[in-house]
Amino acid sequence: MAVKRDYYEVLGVSKTATDDEIKRAYRKLAKECHPDLHPNDKTAEERFKEINEANEVLSDAQKRARYDQFGHEGPNMGGFGGGGAGGFDFNGFGGFGGGSGFDSIFEQLFGGGGAQRSRSAPQPGNDLRYDMKLTFEEAAFGCEKTFDFMRGENCDVCGGSGAKAGTSASTCPTCHGTGQVRAGGGFMVTVRTCQTCGGTGKIIADKCTACSGSGRVRKRRSVTVKVPAGIDNGQTIVDRGEGEPGMRGGPSGDLYVNITVKPHKLFRREGSTLLLDMPISFAQAALGADVDIPTLDGKVSYHVPEGTQEGARFRIRGKGIQNLRSTTRGDLLVTAHVEVPQKLSEKQKQLLTQFEASLSGKEYSGRKTFLDRVKDLFQ
Ligand SMILES: [Zn+2]
Ligand SMILES: [Zn+2]
Repeated sequence: MAVKRDYYEVLGVSKTATDDEIKRAYRKLAKECHPDLHPNDKTAEERFKEINEANEVLSDAQKRARYDQFGHEGPNMGGFGGGGAGGFDFNGFGGFGGGSGFDSIFEQLFGGGGAQRSRSAPQPGNDLRYDMKLTFEEAAFGCEKTFDFMRGENCDVCGGSGAKAGTSASTCPTCHGTGQVRAGGGFMVTVRTCQTCGGTGKIIADKCTACSGSGRVRKRRSVTVKVPAGIDNGQTIVDRGEGEPGMRGGPSGDLYVNITVKPHKLFRREGSTLLLDMPISFAQAALGADVDIPTLDGKVSYHVPEGTQEGARFRIRGKGIQNLRSTTRGDLLVTAHVEVPQKLSEKQKQLLTQFEASLSGKEYSGRKTFLDRVKDLFQ
């Protein structure tokens, strides 16, 4: 999971900022935080690095677009998440990250250590995961996909407070709104989540009926994700801010779309190289032939040269898969497989026998070497 700050936030600009606004914000911040002005200040040094990193991405239109779509993983998409097989089934969905369960255990074990993470503080929304299945062509050429999923949102009826319309939550008398109680004395003070209010710091007398007082409801959400051409099995698209909304003013989580690509009947791929196994007849291989080779964008004609051997490879430039990181397209690599005929008529057999008898042996370089070696062996 990304632990880096949002680049727009780092530069203090909006997501729709123009190139000029970004340039100005960067110059101003870089001046303020320049290490020369803050000798021996580690924080300023880190901040300066962060500002430069953000500028490097946001000042480059291509990197920025990629960042907008993929988040911090954009420039080096390595496919974390490992391609679940869930496809379009909604069971594949699970919230992960930012769980409040961890906080309360942490608080109980280590006391004051978790004090700033109390449940009455703003809480970021959970990240969500969606498993998306694409056809081979959709992944190769890119597409737009609209899909539905369920996510927890703040309740519209009570505005997320959990209290019935016309009423409001009151401050918890046990913890006085902090969500935590301290116990013990001296140097062994333990801090635990308040049992009375469950750590929220609030008591709701009249619960909102729409959300049963939780302030959250599960809602169906529909999003459209732009899938870039060249995406591959196991890679992830990050739709920023499409996770669950934060609580008490916390930021929204992100939606991680894990990609699974269905195999193709004819083609395979290795990165941006498209692979095709193509059978050719014995006669075509021997005599050479013009053949139609299927590609992802229709047929291309190709001349198989005379004397083509089993396993020979032909490269057809630019007919492979779009490279994710550039505008170039990979190649199509065709492997020829010479087929030996299986059901021959008597007439055909005769012709082949005549053909074999006409050979002097020089026609086959591999066989000639082989026979020479056999001769050497038995001499
Ligand atoms: Zn409600
Ligand atoms: Zn309480």
